[in-house]
Amino acid sequence: MYHFYVEQEQIDSGAAAVVIVGPDVNHIRNVLRMKPGEEILVGNGADKDYLCRIEQIAPTQVTARILSRAENTELPAKIYLFQGLPKSDKMELIIQKAVELGVYQVIPVNTSRTVVKLDAKKEEARVRRWNAIAESAAKQSGRVLVPEVTPVMNFDKALAYAADLAVKMIPYENARGMEAAAQAVGLVRPGTSVGVLIGPEGGFEKAEVDEACSVGFTPVSLGRRILRTETAGLAVLSILMYHLETGSVPDAAGCATPGLEKA
Ligand code: SAH
Repeated sequence: MYHFYVEQEQIDSGAAAVVIVGPDVNHIRNVLRMKPGEEILVGNGADKDYLCRIEQIAPTQVTARILSRAENTELPAKIYLFQGLPKSDKMELIIQKAVELGVYQVIPVNTSRTVVKLDAKKEEARVRRWNAIAESAAKQSGRVLVPEVTPVMNFDKALAYAADLAVKMIPYENARGMEAAAQAVGLVRPGTSVGVLIGPEGGFEKAEVDEACSVGFTPVSLGRRILRTETAGLAVLSILMYHLETGSVPDAAGCATPGLEKA
């Protein structure tokens, strides 16, 4: 089913009506050639999604009736992927796949070994494109939330940004054993926030790992093989997605909670 995101003001839940404006109108009229009566999903891109029926298709707006609240497809914890800026189009792949796997926000990070240097103008265009990729991946994968890709942060700013996150991991290929990873993943519960900091192609400098550890990041191993930068974050997201979706999250009494639906 086609999925559209609108501003909260365009959703009048009292009147059970939604108004779609902007480029989506042309898409609905002329590209999808939809007709009144067809059903669509419309959300606020944050926490609400509705199953709607199109009522009217005018040149500049489409109105739809809300039929029901749609299922929430979001993971119960917020995962922030801090990604050392990679070369070429790898970042686009990372964003697309991270959104499919349930990431909450992606933060591109400039590290000592980041090769790409973006000037302000280029960066603005790049960030806009990354957000467009996040939106289309969110639509495609049925996300209620459209994850944000923030502007590029330098390493120190990224660490400061992560300060309040409950669980912080820095996958590091020189870390040994899986205990630290298992322990960090075990701390991720519904309602918590997690930061995952991945190095670019060249990895992190030892000093960067030390600095991250000094502000609460735990170095974790992702196994005995070296993963490419675009694989590492997706591996962590897959592990967290499994952990959060399967009910392998222990409740306060230490028992597995089936389902994990938030009360
Ligand atoms: N240049 C390094 C590897 C960098 S891989 C080398 O060749 O030795 C890019 C990033 O992926 C790393 O900074 C790290 O965050 C993550 N990574 C890759 N393999 C990993 C592993 N086995 N364990 C933990 N992190 C890993």
